[in-house]
Amino acid sequence: MSKRYLQNPFYKTSEELLLKYLDEEDGVCKIKQSSQKEILYSLNEALKEITSNVKPSLGADDYSVYSGLAGISYTFLKIFLNDRAFRFQNQSALTWALKYIEASTDMIKANGIKKNAGGFLGTQTGCLSLASVIYSYTLEHERAFEYVNLIFDSVNRGIVKPNITSEELLYGKAGIIYSLLFIYRNFFNISQHLKANIGFLTKNIAESIIKEGKKHSTTLPDSSFAPSLWFWHGKAYLGAAHGVAGILAVLLQIPKRYWPDNLSEFILESLNFLSSQIKGGKLKATTQSSNDDLVQFCHGPSGITHLLTLAASKSSNDRESIVEVAKTCVDTVWQKGILKKGVGLCHGISGNAYACLDLFKLTREKQYLVQTLYFSERCMSWKQETLNGKLRLPDAPYSLMEGLCGAVCLWNDLLWLEKRYHGFLFKDSSKAFSFDSSSRRYWLILNPDATESPVVEYTAVEYTGEEDEYGVDEYNEIILCREHTGVKVRSGTSVKTDSL
Ligand SMILES: [Zn+2]
Repeated sequence: MSKRYLQNPFYKTSEELLLKYLDEEDGVCKIKQSSQKEILYSLNEALKEITSNVKPSLGADDYSVYSGLAGISYTFLKIFLNDRAFRFQNQSALTWALKYIEASTDMIKANGIKKNAGGFLGTQTGCLSLASVIYSYTLEHERAFEYVNLIFDSVNRGIVKPNITSEELLYGKAGIIYSLLFIYRNFFNISQHLKANIGFLTKNIAESIIKEGKKHSTTLPDSSFAPSLWFWHGKAYLGAAHGVAGILAVLLQIPKRYWPDNLSEFILESLNFLSSQIKGGKLKATTQSSNDDLVQFCHGPSGITHLLTLAASKSSNDRESIVEVAKTCVDTVWQKGILKKGVGLCHGISGNAYACLDLFKLTREKQYLVQTLYFSERCMSWKQETLNGKLRLPDAPYSLMEGLCGAVCLWNDLLWLEKRYHGFLFKDSSKAFSFDSSSRRYWLILNPDATESPVVEYTAVEYTGEEDEYGVDEYNEIILCREHTGVKVRSGTSVKTDSL
């Protein structure tokens, strides 16, 4: 048995788990009712643990999204955004999100707002962006904009001076872009004006990131060609938390209209470099590292998989080759992903489960859904496995990135995925789903077999291209994003997303 992970008894036999987790009928798979019930039960039990052990009060010592109060708020907000009807202890998830973000921002204010903070996970910028979104939903517009303006002020000072000197995700400029895009995509009834302000600010920061990356690209110890490298505490990291993968993933999420010139080429070259560093589904943490044994989101193949699947979903030319690399990474994750460090997103089991889930959503190959569900089940036994010494207790055991909130996010996404898709249609199915590889667009077909039925039965929905402009609401109707609300596509209609 290795030091970092527990043996996966199903590494070579994941097909044995198909019958345990999935029901299949006429080519459509569903997560079994029994599994869904277990997931929902675990989610509720975990929320009890979290809210009874970490109270939203000034007595807490960590306000951050990564390991503190704002991470718990983020978890409840995510549940709310997925399912507005969800109740925990007779209160909506939004109410719980509000309690924790108020405690978090009170702490920040008590300690003084920093004028140059970067990052979403590790600094106050993430908390402020979360607060702005939550207050937009509670319709407290003044407070929502107070936090938006604090971020704008902080970012402008930090970038212009410049005080924000790193580019990575946790504390640097990529994290600022992530925070801004979090507002762009989640702020309730966002105005065109605010979207444009965020878009242009994002573009400026992205240009600054690219400039720094090119400047450092010639510093590799050997003659390898790296079109972009960024440094964190003197080291050139490759993974998601502090390195190339995290930065590229954030750049890829910027709406296309705000892309800096030549961003596509820059990302493609950087992606080729990064792919060349992946050997047998493994990746070193930094260019200087002597080993590649970390299998976790922050450093290693699961964080890289997030980037690769995102890139493949946006690229028609290189999709197949990128998917192949992602599959080698997920194979490593599946083998070595039951980490002893616990169930968090950063270096825990839920973070590794998301690598499998990302690949499933891209390929619709059911083995990756099964792998996600097995990791999810291992998260359910966290308490028992911690007590019997198999798992270690993290420093922040209930937090988002190190602890139980990470598993709650995973369980919530699994339940929501099922609810949204009403079963999953797979690659080899001819039903209701087609994919145009040249335009990288999925055709969305609602209830294709019925001529009169009013029942909406879409089974697979995916958006590409300017997908940030589209959304699917919980009432099974396709809506255009907020600036076009009111335009709806009813059942029995087939549409191409770009013709809406
Ligand atoms: Zn980590």
